[in-house]
Amino acid sequence: MSQKGRIFIISGPAGSGKGTVVKELLGKHDNIRLSVSATTRNPRPGEVEGVNYFYLTQKEFKEKIISGDMLEYAKYSGNLYGTPRDAVNEALEKGFDIILEIEVEGATKVKKKNPDVITIMLTPPDYATIEKRLRGRGTEKPSEIKKRLRRARQEVKMMPKYDYSVINHEGKASECADEIYSIIEAIHRGEEVEHLKTENTKSIIKKLIK
Ligand code: 5GP
Repeated sequence: MSQKGRIFIISGPAGSGKGTVVKELLGKHDNIRLSVSATTRNPRPGEVEGVNYFYLTQKEFKEKIISGDMLEYAKYSGNLYGTPRDAVNEALEKGFDIILEIEVEGATKVKKKNPDVITIMLTPPDYATIEKRLRGRGTEKPSEIKKRLRRARQEVKMMPKYDYSVINHEGKASECADEIYSIIEAIHRGEEVEHLKTENTKSIIKKLIK
């Protein structure tokens, strides 16, 4: 691979369907890697150590922060989540683009330190979809769902800080992945994708906040 890899951050509030979209994106393009984060939350049924996350205790996580192993980290819904630094550097050195699928606080920190990083906010089309997707997953307790809905409201308000915003309409994960890839390709050409740049966020934010 001749070109140097770049970091792309994809954030999305609960219910944005980012897991599905990122899977589509990776399935279609083998020049893109996904950073596997560390977390202190418990694995959901079906999740696999080292594939979905590295599951750490609070103590292990804090040791990694102290030793400088985390590129960034943040607290979300009572748990710590962080990006292991080495894997990101390794992918970039090998020429792969790397996706960090992380929440807004961590995204803001990375962007501040490194403005070259491209930030993309993935959003559901409206609040009803957020609720439907979150409850439909059936893996969280009602109290956890409530927490995540509250956090989703805060997160969508951060949309204006993102370089790009992409809406994940019902049943359109593949098209959404294509839009994200069009951003990745444009960035490598030194261009932008005008129609996906974050602007006029007021109307979309209004739809997302009940
Ligand atoms: P979940 O528990 O649903 O897997 O993830 C909760 C939130 O944490 C999601 O918004 C996800 O994008 C975010 N997240 C996952 N890994 C990281 C990470 O390494 N750093 C940060 N800051 N957020 C992360």
